[in-house]
Amino acid sequence: MKKVFVRPRTRVCYGHMWIYRNDILRIEGEPEAGEVVDIFTSNGVYLGKGYYNPTSKISLRIVTRRNEPVDKDFFVKRFKTSLLLRQPLLRDSSACRVVFSEADNLPGLIVDLFDRHVVIQINTLGMEKLRPYIVDALVEVLEPRGILEKSDANNRKKEGLETEEGWIYGIGPELLRFEMNGLKFYCDTKGQKTGFYLDQRWNAKIFGKFASGRVLDAFSYTGNFGIHALAGSAEHVIFLDYSERALEVAKENVKINNFSLEKVEFVHANAFDYLRSIQGSVYYDAVSLDPPSLAKSPRSLDAAFRGYKELNLRAMKLLKTGGLLSSSSCTHIISREKFEEVITVAANDTRINVAFLHVGGQPPDHPVRLAVPETFYLKNYLMLIERR
Ligand code: SAH
Repeated sequence: MKKVFVRPRTRVCYGHMWIYRNDILRIEGEPEAGEVVDIFTSNGVYLGKGYYNPTSKISLRIVTRRNEPVDKDFFVKRFKTSLLLRQPLLRDSSACRVVFSEADNLPGLIVDLFDRHVVIQINTLGMEKLRPYIVDALVEVLEPRGILEKSDANNRKKEGLETEEGWIYGIGPELLRFEMNGLKFYCDTKGQKTGFYLDQRWNAKIFGKFASGRVLDAFSYTGNFGIHALAGSAEHVIFLDYSERALEVAKENVKINNFSLEKVEFVHANAFDYLRSIQGSVYYDAVSLDPPSLAKSPRSLDAAFRGYKELNLRAMKLLKTGGLLSSSSCTHIISREKFEEVITVAANDTRINVAFLHVGGQPPDHPVRLAVPETFYLKNYLMLIERR
């Protein structure tokens, strides 16, 4: 096997999995793009096996610290380990994330289980080359009816890969039905990411427990937060999203749970404009804000801060005193501290006091690896709003 020697004492020695191009000192043999290689420090310490991609700034990603073959059996072992960790979640739910990339020691691979179907994302060239092993191992461990690949376009571009979408094993319907938190949902195989935001299910559940009266689910996608509110004591829910398809699936989600269509409304609009336009004319008892990532690189940090401030400020103005705001941020570069700063500034500008009822993050099937800060991204605050 080809060997790559890297600078000693980089982050990989402390549990990270990425090696940047600049940290590579010497390469023995001529590994192809995507090939698995042995990795050593320049003073000969064995670091493990990783896959090599000279065109990516992250030129090596470690997949194992041991000297073992990376083949079907390797993935079978890894999938069994991740599945075992998720067993407690699968007792009362038929969906969970089985593999969360670096957080599960498998950089570039995401595997979500929706009942008897599996949706995967392969985001790196190295994982792409290992795809045949991955598919065989998933079939053995999960025995699914179908595996859908729905790979993320942005990441793949950086790796020099095309977008891939389609059933790569078996087949399934366009909407995959599953159960969680005592409710039924559809994962949209033609929708965003892997089709459903499983990462928000605990935050949505807590929102649903507390929300009542008139509820606004802004950036609803297929209705996660609003459906949970209908299961609680919401009297009326507005689902707001600029994706028409997402709202159609949200409607299906209302229907399979037998909630009355008279209690819901679907608003197809830009949330920034809509929140501004209804200011002063309507009031809500509970609002959920769950915008997409507002910044990818530290250069756009200020713009993201302004975006979050605008949304939170508008939502705070729409709430009655005693109302509830569930505010989420999935922007990795916005830290918890930064997000709390946004909330503080918005609260002071709108002259309200805020009490955090719940501070949420990622559920246990989206682990945050201490040595890999990139695995942390989701912040959620459930707030009680009081006018000053
Ligand atoms: N709350 C959802 C996930 C939201 S993902 C859940 O828990 O499942 C973000 C959503 O915001 C996407 O559905 C996207 O279509 C929508 N979106 C993005 N920008 C928007 C905008 N400016 N106005 C309205 N919706 C927007």
